[in-house]
Amino acid sequence: MNPAFRNLRRLEFLVTLACTGRCKRCSEGEHASTGGHIDGGAAVRAVYSLCGAFGIDSLMTFGGEPLLCIDEVCEIQAAAQEMSVPKRQLITNGFFNRDEKKIREAALRLAQSGVNDLLLSVDAFH
Ligand code: SF4
Repeated sequence: MNPAFRNLRRLEFLVTLACTGRCKRCSEGEHASTGGHIDGGAAVRAVYSLCGAFGIDSLMTFGGEPLLCIDEVCEIQAAAQEMSVPKRQLITNGFFNRDEKKIREAALRLAQSGVNDLLLSVDAFH
């Protein structure tokens, strides 16, 4: 085992750099509202592998705006729930769709996938 990982307790997944925000001081530079995203299958394999080897006590999915890629977010969060990671976080700016039905569906999917700590980013006020 790489000694650098000896005390690994937390996993963070930057799901996509795509974002609906246009915050002037974004630490991640320019964003498009569409773009690439993380390989959900590879991320899930990493969750299973790392949670099996280390005492991971928290996992976070963020972006960009991660809810532009909700399939990948839910895959990762469900894997974390299955591996009994106690704290499963999502950071979102809360704006990913204008359709109320789709927003409700997204909220339900997040709950079912096991997100249990939701952080709402208001970076526009930095
Ligand atoms: S919402 Fe967050 S990721 Fe998106 S532009 Fe603003 S600071 Fe950057």
